[in-house]
Amino acid sequence: MTETVKARKEVTPEDKWDVTVLYPDIKTWENEFSKITIKETTPKWPKLAAFHGRLREGTEVLKEALETFLTLQRELEKLYTYAHLRHDEDITDDEHKAAFQKISSLLYDFQQECAWFDPELLALPDDIIDGYLQSPMLAPYRFHLEKIVRMRPYTLSADKEELLAMAGKPFQAAPKAFSALNNADIKFGKVKDGDQKEHELSHGLYQLFLRSPDRTLRENAFKQMQGKYGDLENTLTELIYGEIQSHIFNAQARGFTSSLEAALYPKKIPESVYRSLIAAIRKGLPSLHKYTALRKKLLKLPELHLYDMYVPLVPQIEITMDYHEAEEEVIASVHPLGKEYQALLKKGLTEEHWVDRFENKNKRSGAYSSGYYDSYPYILMNYRGILRDAYTLAHEAGHSMHSLLSWMVQPYQYSRYPIFVAEVASTFNEELLAQHLLKKLTKKEERLFLINEKIEDIRATLFRQTMFAEFELTLHELVEAGTPLTPALLRELYYKLNCDYFGPSVHIDDEIAIEWARIPHFYYNFYVFQYATGISAALDLSEKVLKEGPDNYLAFLKGGNSLFPIDLLKLAGVDMTTSQPVEAAIRKFDALVTELESLTLPPLSH
Ligand SMILES: [Zn+2]
Repeated sequence: MTETVKARKEVTPEDKWDVTVLYPDIKTWENEFSKITIKETTPKWPKLAAFHGRLREGTEVLKEALETFLTLQRELEKLYTYAHLRHDEDITDDEHKAAFQKISSLLYDFQQECAWFDPELLALPDDIIDGYLQSPMLAPYRFHLEKIVRMRPYTLSADKEELLAMAGKPFQAAPKAFSALNNADIKFGKVKDGDQKEHELSHGLYQLFLRSPDRTLRENAFKQMQGKYGDLENTLTELIYGEIQSHIFNAQARGFTSSLEAALYPKKIPESVYRSLIAAIRKGLPSLHKYTALRKKLLKLPELHLYDMYVPLVPQIEITMDYHEAEEEVIASVHPLGKEYQALLKKGLTEEHWVDRFENKNKRSGAYSSGYYDSYPYILMNYRGILRDAYTLAHEAGHSMHSLLSWMVQPYQYSRYPIFVAEVASTFNEELLAQHLLKKLTKKEERLFLINEKIEDIRATLFRQTMFAEFELTLHELVEAGTPLTPALLRELYYKLNCDYFGPSVHIDDEIAIEWARIPHFYYNFYVFQYATGISAALDLSEKVLKEGPDNYLAFLKGGNSLFPIDLLKLAGVDMTTSQPVEAAIRKFDALVTELESLTLPPLSH
């Protein structure tokens, strides 16, 4: 297929998202932008600054201050949403790029000008704060205030807070240096395939090469990729060591007992959620080992290496779907969530034009769901027509429907759901699509393909991310106990983890010991575990919804950000403080492996 990629202006309206509901055109956006701030003044929003120093005056003043802040934020979000969507349509469009930069910079100013709010509130005496939290007038903002007040025991005096804020920028050195090295400076060179043909290696191509049926290419890509990081091992060790020390500095400066506690406390996620995830996954490793053993058998390899882990097991039968088919299947698949949900999604996809469907020249790559309280929950895609793309549509539609239902039910201040629960709604809809397709597709090869995809998905999201989470926790705990991080120690720890997780059927290549060095998420401060908890909750909930109906799950989606994440998930019927959801996800994985095994048995001869 040599279909040429269209320029943005050649894309038909049918295939574009409808952003005209925000502003008819960029000129109108410019007009609105110039109205939102009184130019050249400091502060830019005198109305907001007028409340500085007045929060102790009473409920009425606090309510006015909150409402002034939220109203401004909502107007800015409208401007931001439009500019960022237009920017992503064609990132070389100068007019849209300028608009995007202008609003991004204004948002930064806005945050700076609001920075006094939380510290001022936190500095008030207990009785005033308690009064505010009990006040019926402030009831719509109670949880919003509670989240701020929660940080009270860990907030320092004003001058110390100022000092910590000033230290924020230098602490960005390690993650920024890693990002510059990883995205720009590092060069991967070329690798040879089985026919001695050379191929350029890059982050994106690496994933592709690992799926290649050409084993020589897989091996060369794997060894060269790790090798390039190995060449920079001392630098990369210092960077991750520095990053971890900055987490520990911030935790200790505020009086937390550990960096893990400091990372989880603001979201009210108990440490036990993190630790019991690791414990439950460790207990479930035999299921992963059962899969690696089966993979070895099916690939008929004398030795299964780490570069054999991604190659598809089913001799490529690619299931394809055009966009409209995918749209239809995704809409059909959400049937278990009830008529209202299904109708809203159908309207969004087919009438309101939430989705920017296909690639065009200079369009942002990948896929996302984005929008704000008063807009559609837009979806950016680069739909090509392979099965993975249909799953991506289901995934992003899951995010978008979560947004839409939150926006319909919650007031603005509780409309943006927390990150800890975000991937539940999206993974849930992928699972619904998988179930729907498994019911429809009856050919053995198609079922094999679907099941293998699902297994790989769970392996990558549940097991691999938990292995990362375990590594991340170990490093923090070692540094907290005073152990310096050295290249040799990191290699040893990471190699051992890979042995434990992949099990005895896999030959653990020495090169893997440096893989930790190319994972950007280790600079995100205890982030990755949320992928694993997210997929666990989603798999557990999809089973519950199919058995018990969608009411509790819909209540969770409509909950937005009106509760702490663990409490939101309790609404849905899943308790993340127990290991039960993770165990359910492992059982599901195990059942899929068993099914894969039975589908691949040679036919019995009678
Ligand atoms: Zn997502």
